[in-house]
Amino acid sequence: MASQEIERLAQALARLPGLGPRSARRAVLWLVKRRETSLVQLLDALADVRERLVECTTCGNVDTSDPCAICSDPRRDAKAICVVEDVADLWALDRAKLFTGTYHVLGGKLSALDGVRPEDLNIARLLARVEAGGVDEVVLAMNATLEGQTTAHYLAERLEEFPVRITQLAHGLPVGGELDYLDEGTLAQALRARRPVG
Ligand SMILES: [Zn+2]
Repeated sequence: MASQEIERLAQALARLPGLGPRSARRAVLWLVKRRETSLVQLLDALADVRERLVECTTCGNVDTSDPCAICSDPRRDAKAICVVEDVADLWALDRAKLFTGTYHVLGGKLSALDGVRPEDLNIARLLARVEAGGVDEVVLAMNATLEGQTTAHYLAERLEEFPVRITQLAHGLPVGGELDYLDEGTLAQALRARRPVG
């Protein structure tokens, strides 16, 4: 019988992506054995994240400043916006260092199965950014999954009324592929060979 404290932490950890109840409990026990070292480091890191990280109100990136370092970088080309599902995708693309524009994080993808509707995503702010003008190109960099592509089609339709070029990543992307898991070469290739939607 695990103590209430251990159960509570294990349950919280089990909600993390990729961590089930069994591995969560193992992680808790591992931390308990290292309470003066690893547990302290984890606590400090969590406190830091809680205190210092904010969501960029322009693009939805997570950073220590709002606007984020990317949105406030004058060397970035504000005329191009690359739309991604999650912050992890933004980071993956930015690591590839091929896109010199700015980003927009949707915070998920449309999903009938999970009940995610357009109003649940960061779409209104994207449309507002485009409507404000000064944007030439919107790159739809959704994952090559069914839901990712449904989201891309929806966005392409919503963006149709604006005088912008709408492109999407070339499908050198493996079907079902998630950006976050791709190597930088594949990502760079998909971005370089991006093509108009429609
Ligand atoms: Zn930003």
